Amino acid sequence: MIHNHYHGTYDVIVAGGGIAGLAAAVTSARLGKKTLLIERYGFLGGLATAGLVNPFMTHRSSTGQPLISGFFDNLCSRLEEFGGIKGSTFDSESMKFAAQEMALDAGVHLLLHSWVKEAVVVDGAIRGLRVVDKSGEVEYSADRVIDATGDGDVAVSAGASYQSGGEDGYPQATTMMFDVGGVDLAEALAYVKSRPDQFRFPVLSPDVDPVKLSKEVISVAGYYDLVARARERGEYSLPGDLIFYISRPRPGEVVFNTTHVGMVDGTKSQDLTRAEIEGRRQASALVKFVRNYIPGFKNAYLLRMAAQIGVRETRRIIGEYIFSADDVIEARKHHDAIARLAYPVDVHSGKGEGYTRDEEQLTGPVVPPPGDWYEIPYRCLVPLEIENLLVAGRCVSSTQAGHGAIRIMPCCAAMGQAAGAAAALSITQNVTPRNLDVNLLLKVLREQGALV
Ligand SMILES: Cc1cc2nc3c(=O)[nH]c(=O)nc-3n(C[C@H](O)[C@H](O)[C@H](O)COP(=O)(O)OP(=O)(O)OC[C@H]3O[C@@H](n4cnc5c(N)ncnc54)[C@H](O)[C@@H]3O)c2cc1C
Repeated sequence: MIHNHYHGTYDVIVAGGGIAGLAAAVTSARLGKKTLLIERYGFLGGLATAGLVNPFMTHRSSTGQPLISGFFDNLCSRLEEFGGIKGSTFDSESMKFAAQEMALDAGVHLLLHSWVKEAVVVDGAIRGLRVVDKSGEVEYSADRVIDATGDGDVAVSAGASYQSGGEDGYPQATTMMFDVGGVDLAEALAYVKSRPDQFRFPVLSPDVDPVKLSKEVISVAGYYDLVARARERGEYSLPGDLIFYISRPRPGEVVFNTTHVGMVDGTKSQDLTRAEIEGRRQASALVKFVRNYIPGFKNAYLLRMAAQIGVRETRRIIGEYIFSADDVIEARKHHDAIARLAYPVDVHSGKGEGYTRDEEQLTGPVVPPPGDWYEIPYRCLVPLEIENLLVAGRCVSSTQAGHGAIRIMPCCAAMGQAAGAAAALSITQNVTPRNLDVNLLLKVLREQGALV
């Protein structure tokens, strides 16, 4: 058997090596538990690497107060060691390496190229996972399992109930992210400054120096007039009225978050295949458009497309508490809060209409009051029906709108850290995660630098 250098029995197994799974595994191992992290790809990071998602959306309040620290800060420091981060934007290749080294330094056993098929459940409690690779099927047992697959694969196979989609029945649209090089960002920003009515952001005052600004991390959304002109001429057929890109750490490189493919169930291969094909077609058309129409992009070239279409949302496992837009608007605080955030509800139309000039997708109409924040309860990580199982990351218990706020990467890191700590502590305390003393959990999270 290929895996025979690993023992098949673990204290904690984490399924899925995205930001949430990485945080969970590292935290569990740091607390002394024998931890296995299983990932289907040959590298860690999930959407942050395979999906080319960038930047880290804000983990601060509107007045600049930091709301997330702990593991997330450790990750940023690690990226910094490799020169892979600039402000909120990071390099996806450095992320792959930083993630792997953090896991190994903490003593996590890594199992890559392995697909978690299903949970092993005995008497309502999870006992391990069946994992598939090229050689067949292997079973790993564990006292606690954390589902960080993003899609709740483990929880659903164990029999946990879940919600998916929103009022229109669809989950959020998917996006093929792609990087472009050869951009003269100073020229691009000079144009942005000269046409403030054609952009949602940034709004650049007359005293802004585009050359100076081009050295900073910058997000640009707009070009309404150029998109409309190209569409009239039959040279633009993407959904939406605007394009959106963000600068990368290296000069002359930007990442586009503009394509949209709707009506995609990210748990179905047929839908994902359609989304990959359509996403790459849109990305390719967009590269042509920006070269021909956007000042500063004349010499731009495609650097890379994401290895997978970006799936924002699939299953949301129903837990002890369902996080909703009311939590965001009312800036609710909870006795078992494992993370704080002030990011708005950010839901992309499930039909894939793209960003339109009038809607609020990029700024989000649903926000906590200025300077305030909301909190995410530990209960969102505890599925209703199954014992010894926790969920972390984008499959936690939430409504579609609630999910739209807490799905961002810094928050996934905080939720992962909490799940890892809870799994480890519940073993030490000999209680199920459901019955864990949350005050103990919060104490340990604070000791690890978490802002809870
Ligand atoms: C297009 C797009 C743009 C976004 N923009 C931003 C942004 O600008 N800023 C921001 O902060 N957030 C953004 N987000 C949200 C954020 O990227 C994700 O919500 C977050 O990265 C999710 O992390 P995760 O660890 O929960 O899940 P994922 O990153 O999805 O990780 C899950 C991991 O599990 C693995 N896996 C899944 N199933 C299995 C299985 N059965 N067996 C083994 N392995 C499995 C996957 O390969 C993956 O590595 C965006 C998301 C998308 C899709």
